[in-house]
Amino acid sequence: MIDGGLWHTDDPEVPSQRVFLQVRDVLYRRQSQYQDIAIVDTVLFGRALILNNILQTAERDEFCYHEMLVHPVMVAHPAPRRVLIIGGGDGGALRRVLEHPVERVTMVEIDRDVVEACREYLPTIHGNAFDDPRLDLRFGDGFAYVEARPEKFDVIIVDGPDPIGLTPGTVLFAPDFYRGLADMLEEDGLVVQQTESPMLLPAQTAATHLHLRSVLPIVRTYLTAVQSYDGWWSFTVASRTIDPAAVETEVLARRMRERGIERCRYYSPEVHRGAFDLPVFLRHFLEESVALGRPADSHPLMPEVNARIQRGS
Ligand code: SAM
Repeated sequence: MIDGGLWHTDDPEVPSQRVFLQVRDVLYRRQSQYQDIAIVDTVLFGRALILNNILQTAERDEFCYHEMLVHPVMVAHPAPRRVLIIGGGDGGALRRVLEHPVERVTMVEIDRDVVEACREYLPTIHGNAFDDPRLDLRFGDGFAYVEARPEKFDVIIVDGPDPIGLTPGTVLFAPDFYRGLADMLEEDGLVVQQTESPMLLPAQTAATHLHLRSVLPIVRTYLTAVQSYDGWWSFTVASRTIDPAAVETEVLARRMRERGIERCRYYSPEVHRGAFDLPVFLRHFLEESVALGRPADSHPLMPEVNARIQRGS
């Protein structure tokens, strides 16, 4: 409580910065088998999903995240038919995948309670995507599913929570998770993962870039902006044959037209191309990290991040 009002702030990712969101009401709260789940109504961003006290997604700016997580890989692929989503229990990523003429979306989400809560309280995010007959929804651990390597996909989307604290999502950032992802990709497939704030968790952004690079030859990190998180957010995409940063704007535009994708509020072919043009310091940070084989020290916030890693907090 602050000034007598109810506020949410994430468990600190970086101790010296906190984001506070004023909350009108707590709509749902439950300790599931896997995590603490809350859905709150915030003054500024509308309803929001919070897992283990970390904001996951909010109604008013979820499109900035979900459109940019999904459309760059889906439009870069000439004809994605079978798609895998790992995590993504709020349905925001699923809704955007289903805007494409896919045959089937397999979604492996560990927590049934998250899906049921979001189905009820966050229809503006999932848009009833869970009712689409093309969905094959499975409740289980995405890491174990990938370990089993049941089949191959044209596009794989890893939409996990932040690897902070005791979250079931930490395994989705483990080094040996990536070998399985690569094995489950078709020859011209693409895999994308949300890779955290490139300012507040640069070590994670770099680590995932390196993990994907160890199993696939083409790796690109790109950016979006999600104000309810703390601004900049990153994704990292990898492939054997398709460089999503190199697909011509006209090709992207044609594919969007052919697929009838016209309702985007963040993504466009021009935004797609621009998202891969990283700020100089970030491009240098990732290039140095690749050369060193570990997150470089050049990032402006790395001293604090390294100090936190050393402290184990
Ligand atoms: N879409 C969100 C956003 O906009 O940032 C990303 C977070 S999404 C809510 C994360 C989902 O991953 C949650 O539904 C969580 O239950 C799920 N999850 C966590 N660990 C998992 C695992 N090991 N396997 C499958 N799903 C997992």
